[in-house]
Amino acid sequence: NQYRDCPLDKNELGRATWGLLHSISVTIPEHPTETQRRDLVNLMNSLAQFYPCEYCARDLRNELIKEPVDASSQHNFAQWLCRLHNRVNTKIGKPIFDCSKVYERWRDGWLDGSCD
Ligand code: FAD
Repeated sequence: NQYRDCPLDKNELGRATWGLLHSISVTIPEHPTETQRRDLVNLMNSLAQFYPCEYCARDLRNELIKEPVDASSQHNFAQWLCRLHNRVNTKIGKPIFDCSKVYERWRDGWLDGSCD
């Protein structure tokens, strides 16, 4: 029953957010226009301001200062986001993700066909 779904807890919210962000990162234009680059920077800054987990948002604000958004190309943005996610992973004791695999994980499916 859709009316019985519950508010997202921190982990569900994180999973959903990363899913959206990584999916965006591997499907944006390969060479974003100036405006699109600016919008990607704004997307991350808005998230850092409004993300509904206060200490996660504060942490994100710091990370964006340490390693500013790189939206110079689809590849660079996808890799930048992967590194950001890995810094969060490290902080909370989750395994590091191999950033050479972002296209398989978030767009193309695994080479063994298991997502087909
Ligand atoms: P998630 O980390 O949600 O990842 C989902 C899937 O993404 C994984 O199953 C894997 O297939 C893939 N993946 C993993 N790493 C990468 C990567 N580097 N690149 C590409 N794909 C990857 N939680 C806290 O407890 N403390 C925090 O301070 C905190 N800060 C957060 C800040 C932000 C901006 C966001 C979006 C989330 C934050 N979270 C935080 C939530 C946390 O990152 C996880 O989302 C949550 O713990 C659920 O983890 P998960 O194991 O489901 O996998």
